[in-house]
Amino acid sequence: MVVKIDKNKCLRCGGCVGTCPKLALNLTEHGLVCDPEKCVDCGICVQFCPVGALSLQKKKK
Ligand code: SF4
Ligand code: SF4
Repeated sequence: MVVKIDKNKCLRCGGCVGTCPKLALNLTEHGLVCDPEKCVDCGICVQFCPVGALSLQKKKK
C-alpha cells in the first residue's frame, strides 16, 4: 500500500512529515510526496493530518 495524498485538501503544513517513523514523507516544491519504497502503511500520518488529506490505498496488483 501507499499513502494517497489529496492535494486539494493538503495545506502543506509539513506536520505529517515529522510523524512518519520511516521518513517516507517529504514536503517538496510540488507538494507533499510519499516514497512507496519506504512507507510501511502504519497509518500514523493518516491519523495525524488535521484536514484528512491522507489515506491508505491498496496498490493495484
Ligand atoms: S499534515 Fe496534512 S495538511 Fe499537513 S502537510 Fe501533511 S497531509 Fe498536508
Ligand atoms: S503510513 Fe506510516 S510509513 Fe507510511 S507515510 Fe504514513 S507514517 Fe510514514
